[in-house]
Formats: sequence, structure tokens, C-alpha cells
Amino acid sequence: MKDKFKKIDNVKLLTLLNHILEHRLFKPVAISIIVTFILINSLTVAYKIASSYRESVEMKNKLTPIKINISESGFDMDEEQVIDYQVKSGDTLLRILLDLGVVESDVLAILNEMTKVYNPKSISNKDIITINHKIKVGYSRKNEGSDDNIDREVIINSLSIFPSVEKQITISRDSNGAYKAKETILKITKSISRYSGTLNNGLYVDGVRSGISPTAMMNMINLYSYDVDFQRDVKDGDKFEILVESFYTEGGKKVRDGDILFSSLVLQKRPIDIYLHMIDGRKEYFDSKGNSTRKSLLRTPINGARVSSSFGMRRHPVLGYSKMHKGIDFAAASGTPILAAGSGTITYYSPKGGYGNFVQIKHTPEYSTAYGHASRFVKKLKVGSKVKQGDVVAYVGSTGRSTGPHLHFELMFKGQAVNPSKVKATSGLRLAGKALKGFEEVKNRIDKYRKNIPNQFKAQ
Ligand SMILES: [Zn+2]
Repeated sequence: MKDKFKKIDNVKLLTLLNHILEHRLFKPVAISIIVTFILINSLTVAYKIASSYRESVEMKNKLTPIKINISESGFDMDEEQVIDYQVKSGDTLLRILLDLGVVESDVLAILNEMTKVYNPKSISNKDIITINHKIKVGYSRKNEGSDDNIDREVIINSLSIFPSVEKQITISRDSNGAYKAKETILKITKSISRYSGTLNNGLYVDGVRSGISPTAMMNMINLYSYDVDFQRDVKDGDKFEILVESFYTEGGKKVRDGDILFSSLVLQKRPIDIYLHMIDGRKEYFDSKGNSTRKSLLRTPINGARVSSSFGMRRHPVLGYSKMHKGIDFAAASGTPILAAGSGTITYYSPKGGYGNFVQIKHTPEYSTAYGHASRFVKKLKVGSKVKQGDVVAYVGSTGRSTGPHLHFELMFKGQAVNPSKVKATSGLRLAGKALKGFEEVKNRIDKYRKNIPNQFKAQ
């Protein structure tokens, strides 16, 4: 990952967010920063930031002209800026660049040139695109004389994607404004880094400050999402350890982090160790006893919310009489993202009577989950869309029969609502016999690394 991300922290995130607000661009980036905030801060902070983002966007829509001296050709408002954009599922390069504010003719020229060495449609979820651009601001001739005559244009200087660790595709703009594609094969060496220490500022911040890439830290957090509630369970003074593959160029510059080989969180002295092991040709994570860490459903399909009403008989707050409550209610601010409790296919995605805006996801032939009272849906999703565990499927609201913003969450087994808190999150896979022996060899090797590789964690 890029060096400049090494010291990213809240302040940097805020600055970055501000920058994006300043220039009214790159909504996907702003949103992913807000999501990062949700993960590393309290929900309230994240919510405040999200609202201030919305307000600023509204404010910027009533843009006041800036008094600057500009030539005919416009004014370069800023020096070059570099963004590492992480691709989300459903993104296309076309959409990303148009959203950034690049003019259509440039976008088409870039895509056209890229096709010579790489199919732009091959970009996939979590790929990093490094975008070096500048913003030109000038008086628009269209609206001359009016207050609304400021025009802005985003110019891409270069854009790099990394189809594999060794391969870099770069599209650069020459002095005549033409784009040229180039494919570079990098000489890469792999090594294993180890970081171990005490948490002082939260797992994400402490990890990134000691040099682990934000992507690897997010991956580590995801590994624990089945067992750990990062809002409540992780405290200052808790310990962590991580062994991660890192790829370096010939010059010794870190290109990016690879797989997490081992990770440990010691929460109030309770260690949760996770080992990477190949099984049937695919990568899986296991606890120290050889049980897969992958579980079928998330414990809580929302970050940092509290249960406001549990499963069972209760007096209905709106209808007034006693009624079976077939789900769990989570109180959360309106607009809080609702996450898919497990991977699956959307089978309902529209208003449904008292449920208000309603989402249903089928995970297995037996299990589905449902989410009620959403304030709004996600534009690109519909019935039939495939979602992955943790994907945002809607936003908390109070539509339908509801007394205030909350998520009504239901778990269905063979079409019957069951109590989600009673259903044991089933372990995906339990190694035994020969497979367990194979795992133990890997585990011993990793434990040797843990003893022998020097610790690179820098306490803050
Ligand atoms: Zn409910």
C-alpha cells in the first residue's frame, strides 16, 4: 500500500473528507471514509460526520463564486492530488471517473487506451485504483455575467491499477492531453511482517499507525466480525498480534500487504487466535483448535446498536395489545447502514405493510433474514441481487408501523421466524483426522514465525 497511508488517522481522514467536500466530488470515497469512521469511532461521531457531509454537500450546491485570477484556460486550483480508491462491488471504471468529475471525452479516451493492455471491466471488488489528478477551476463562458459562472474540471494526470501484485497498468496524460497506456511488470519480493502490542487508540488506528495497510487492518477486523463487537468488546490496554505478508519492490518499497497469516486479539485476557490455512485449494481461517472462524450469520446486522426490543410476546407499542414480536429491534439513528447478516440473494426489496421498507435475503435453502422500517434502499440493489455478508443493504428508518428509527430484524428457518439470539452461529467447518494434522503443521510453522520475526509495532 502507498506510503502516505502509513500515518493515516482520524485527523487525516477528516482532512481528506474535508478536501472531498471542498471539491464536491467523489461521493463513494466520502462514503467509504464515513464507513471507516463507523468502524473505528462511535456511531454518534460517524453519524455527526455523515450529517455534516450531507449538509456541506447541500451548502456546496449553492456554491458562491471564489474570487481568483484566472486565465482563459482556467486556473489550477490545487497541485496534483493522489487518491487510492478502493473498488466496491458494482463499480465500473466509467462510473468512478464520471463521479470524480472527469469530463466524458477524457473518460472515454482513458478507457479506450486502457483496453489495449487491460480490460477495464476486469476491475473487481477491493482493487485499488491510484488516481493522480488535478482540479481546474475557471469562469464558465456559458453563464457569463451570472453568479453561477464557476466551472470545474477534473484532469487525470495518471491512473494506475494493479491486476496482480507484479503487474501495474498505468494510463498517463502527455503534454498534448493524449492518454497512453503502459503495462509494467514489477519485480516483487514477499516477506512476513509481525506487529504485536497494546491497543491505545483502537485496533484500526493503532494498526495503521504502525505501518499495516488500511486494507489489511480492515481484513483483520472482518476476521473478528463474527465474534467481536468492536464498539463494546475492545478496550484500551487489550493486546493484539498480526502476521501479515508484505510485498516489496526491488528498491525496498512496500507495494501492498497480502494475506493475514495469523491474528490474535487478547480482549480482557481472553485470546482469540486465528490462523490462515489452505483447505481444498482455498484459503480459510481457523481457531487454534481447527474450527473454521467463518460462521453462517452475523450476530448483529448493524454496527454499535443496542437491542431495544427482543424476541417474544410483548405489548405492541403502536397497536396497544399483546402480540408476538417475531424479531429483534435494534435502536439506531436514522440513516445508519443496515448490513447483510450473511451472503445470499435478495428476495424482497420494497415496502411491505407495517414493516415499511422491507428487505429479505435468502442465505441457504433453510435460512433467510429480514429487515424492516428502512428509511431508504440502496440504489443498485433489487430482488435477485447477490449480496455478501456485511454489505450495506438499506438504511435505518421509521417507515411502516414504527414509533421511532430502529431496525426490525428477523431470522427465518424454513419460513418460520425464530429467535436470532437463540440460534447458535454455526461453525462452517471443523477439521478432523488428516485435515487436522495438516492444519497443525501450518499452525506450528506460524507459531515459529511468531517467535522469530522481530516485532515492528511502534507504540504510540
Ligand atoms: Zn420489531
